[in-house]
Amino acid sequence: MEKKDLRYYAKVHSVESFGTVDGPGIRFVIFMQGCHLKCKYCHNRDTWDINGGTYKSLDVILDKIMNYKNYICPNGGVTVTGGDPLLQAKFIYELFKKLKEENIHTCIDTSGMFPLTDDIKKVLSVTDLVLLDIKHIDDKKCKELVGKSNKFELEFAKYLSDNDIAIWIRQVLVPGITDDETDLLKLKDFISSLKTVKKVELLPYHNMGKYKWEKLGLKYELENIRTATSDDVEKAKKILGIT
Ligand code: SF4
Repeated sequence: MEKKDLRYYAKVHSVESFGTVDGPGIRFVIFMQGCHLKCKYCHNRDTWDINGGTYKSLDVILDKIMNYKNYICPNGGVTVTGGDPLLQAKFIYELFKKLKEENIHTCIDTSGMFPLTDDIKKVLSVTDLVLLDIKHIDDKKCKELVGKSNKFELEFAKYLSDNDIAIWIRQVLVPGITDDETDLLKLKDFISSLKTVKKVELLPYHNMGKYKWEKLGLKYELENIRTATSDDVEKAKKILGIT
């Protein structure tokens, strides 16, 4: 098979033309295929395998986005999520560069659990907003929850702050796993050390993605964890000092 130039082709899981939760305004959302984490609560389990999804060309994606330009501009924009879009950083850079030429707002949803390579820094140079999923502020618990240390993501957050890139911090609130008061206070301290945080969001854990694990014949490890209630969220918000 012909080898693809990964600047102009990417493995895409799916797209959504009118997203309203992944960044400001109405957004064209691209779900990229491939993830290097193993979050136990993942509700997009079918995006993990980079060999899945289908190759889409930059031109095809751009054409699709342009069809919606009147809806997503000026208050919305384009969000890339996944999976983790930074596994395909070369493509995201080319895409965002073109979008910036069209004055379209660019947003990336990532764990930030990557070393800051030149490719990733290039992506960030054309990114208006990062939705940064801080998986767990406690390193040991982070490894247990997603299979990797939080070292890179905390460095990533600092890089965003130092380079004046807007951040929305996100964390999935999982009862008994990410809602410990000491951890939330530690998270609060970390967030207050960053200069460019515009918003902090707690995403209540739910198990609606469980069926995807089962469909793939995989064991869903959070079987015995209850979903987070609005009371859990309010309690955690109070600790974090957010509204
Ligand atoms: S980073 Fe996102 S896509 Fe990847 S395993 Fe975690 S929740 Fe799933």
